[in-house]
Formats: sequence, C-alpha cells, structure tokens
Amino acid sequence: ATSGGARLFELPADLRGHDMGDAAVTRYSPGSVDDALRAKLAQSGAEDAFFVADLGEVYRQYAQWTKLLPRVQPFFAVKCNPDALVIKLLARLGAGFDCASKGELMQVLSEGVSAGNIIYAHPCKPASHLRYAAAQGVKLMTFDNADELEKISELHPGAKAVLRILADDSSALCRLGLKFGAEPGSAAALLRTAIRLGVQVVGVSFHVGSGCKSEAAFSDAVERARCVFDQAAALGLQLSLLDVGGGFPGRNDTTGLDFNVVARVLSAAIDRHFPQDAYAHVRVIAEPGRYFVASAFSLAVNVVARRRIEGEGTESYMYYVNDGVYGSFNCIVFDHQSPRPRLLHTRGELGVAAGTLFKSSIWGPTCDSIDCIVPSGLLLPELRIGDWLVFDGMGAYTLCAASRFNGFKLSDIVYVDSERALL
Ligand code: PLP
Repeated sequence: ATSGGARLFELPADLRGHDMGDAAVTRYSPGSVDDALRAKLAQSGAEDAFFVADLGEVYRQYAQWTKLLPRVQPFFAVKCNPDALVIKLLARLGAGFDCASKGELMQVLSEGVSAGNIIYAHPCKPASHLRYAAAQGVKLMTFDNADELEKISELHPGAKAVLRILADDSSALCRLGLKFGAEPGSAAALLRTAIRLGVQVVGVSFHVGSGCKSEAAFSDAVERARCVFDQAAALGLQLSLLDVGGGFPGRNDTTGLDFNVVARVLSAAIDRHFPQDAYAHVRVIAEPGRYFVASAFSLAVNVVARRRIEGEGTESYMYYVNDGVYGSFNCIVFDHQSPRPRLLHTRGELGVAAGTLFKSSIWGPTCDSIDCIVPSGLLLPELRIGDWLVFDGMGAYTLCAASRFNGFKLSDIVYVDSERALL
C-alpha cells in the first residue's frame, strides 16, 4: 500500500473491457481501500458515488475457503456480483461458477472459463437458455420438477442433471425454498421419471437460503441429500455429485453466523454422511455468492443536499446522498440488509472528530420517499453538503440489481488489490 494517498494506475490491458452498465471501471491501484478512498476524493470535483472493490479481500476469502473446506470446490454464484474482475480472479484461483441464465453463461464463458467448470444452477430454465447451454457444452444443471426433466430430455439430452431438494431455510434472510427445491418425499418419483426419459441424474443439490443464520441447516441438508443418494442407489443410479449450495456468511455480515463454525459443522456432516473411503467417487461442490464478495466492496456516497429540522429544543438532519434504494442500496429491499455508514470527510481524512451528535436520516437521490437508506434515529455529527459517507460490506446483491430510476447513473467502481492477487 502507498501512504499519503494511493497512486492510481490505469487498468492493465487484459483487464479492460469490463461492462457493468454505465458503471465505469476507472482505475486500478495496488493499495488499500482507504488509500483509494482518499486518492479518489483528492481528485478535484469528485462528486459521484463510487465503489472501492478490494480484489485482495476476494483472494483472502478464497484462501480461507480452501483451508477450512478442502473437500468442497466453490462455484461462485455469479448473480451475487457479476463483476468481471472478480470472475477473472476467482477463475484464476480455480473456482467454478454457478450461472442462473444465458446472460451469465455468456459472461463467464467469455472470461475463458471452461464449460466443465460451470453449473447452470437454476431449476426452471427458459428453453432458449437451455439450448444455449447445450450448444456451449455446459452440461451440469439443476432441476426440481418433472416438467423440467421433460424439457431437458428434449433440448439437452447430454445434460448431467442435479436434483435440487428442499432444505430447511426457515432461519434465512432470503428463503429460496418458497420457490425452489423438491420435497425429499418426491425425490424417488423424480428419479424414476428421469430414468424413463433417459435424463442422466448425477447428483443432489440444496440451498439453505441466502443469509442463512443456522449452521445446523447445512448439516441437516447434507443428511437429506444422503437419503436421496440411497434412494438413487436403490434404483440402480450411482450419484457422483453433492452440491451444498450457497448461504455462507460474508466476513463481518450481520447474520451472526461465523464461517468458521459453518465450515466445521458442514465438513463434519460431509465426512459423516459421505465418508471419504466409501464415497471417494463423490465430488463435493458449493455455490457461495455473498461469502466471496460482501466484504470486498465499500460504497462511498456524497451528501448532495440536506434539510435541517428544528423541533422544540431539538435539531435533526435529513441527508440526501447520490446512491439509493433504486440503485446499489436495493439490497435493503431485496436482500433485507440494514447498511450503516462511517464518515469520510472531503479533506480525505477517514473518520471524524467527536462533536455534538444529531438525530439523522439518510435518503437516496430519487424523488420517491421509499428511497430511504437509514431511517431517522442514526446519530451523526453535523454533515455539510459535499461530505462523504462510506458503507462497507456492499459487495453482495447491490450493483447487480441497481436501476437508473429517475435518470441517476450506476455508481462507478475503483479497484484496489491489497494482496496483489491479480497483478
Ligand atoms: N445458488 C443459488 C441457486 C442461488 O439462488 C443463490 C442465491 O440466490 C446462491 C447460490 C448464492 O447464495 P449466497 O449468496 O447466499 O451464497
């Protein structure tokens, strides 16, 4: 890292061409997140909101994964953050990819990822997307119903199908089981349908829910998966893939679930239900999204306007900033997050001297009143127009679902690489 403000470098040639709507990749710097924040703010006229993405943090998360879950190969869930540099880095490190659509398949394949390192992990696929997967040789894909098997047998007869079963996601922030996952009781019938249609079933997957709060959900689901392996064996099918899905916590996220604990409990469950000696033929994969990227992206927003409210003997402030709920903060609505800021002043200094604190609320830039990032009650020192706030932990389910409602642009991304992971 550099001190006194990072030097900013142009992106290396092979890393250009990134496309994230109109969110421009501006620079590449080997320093830390706070170096990049200072350097960016030192630029005259800096006003637009921007992300600082630390590829080194993605690298550290990957290193931690291989240390704590050595039996499980991660397939990054692209939907969580389809950032080209994140994909490039994870591909270089040896990860596979979980794609949800033709668009994601195209993106990952265009990054040079081989079809064999992709799982099309959507149980309900449009026909044209399925045809595209077939044409590209992407074979691994999930299903959870008989109609999907009919479609696969017709449009992608060479597919290697993975039966997604329902897991207990009752504690998760996002309960995916409301929409997907076969009841374990229907697994045998689905396997028989697959045999009748000539669809090759190779394994079982589940998802404990995104933002899962219970490590027991993982071990319980592994046990359920083992039951399906046994049912398949009784039908003469030897399954060879266990996909333990996503739902792993990001570093410092608010679910209270610790990745170390999840890894320990999950590893023990895999070793118990799929002991290495008897199940050496079984490949174990996972589909983590949030885990890799949540802590790697910080979002800096600028106070573009404010309103001072005088009550009886009280003073409070409403601050209007230039990214909001219709933009990167859509995670408040879709991902049930409650982001909280730290202060960053225009002088380029992080943090702020203690002073009188005022009740404050933070609002996004659009004309809609639902566009509220932090409701009143937050205690902040008095901010001025032009001051900066930083929201850490903004890498998961943020920019990927942002809109340009009211004509506002998507926030730019500045990259740093604190581990020189991509250099
Ligand atoms: N796999 C599938 C099929 C998903 O739908 C999702 C998220 O919606 C993920 C993986 C990633 O989940 P997470 O980000 O919680 O790890």
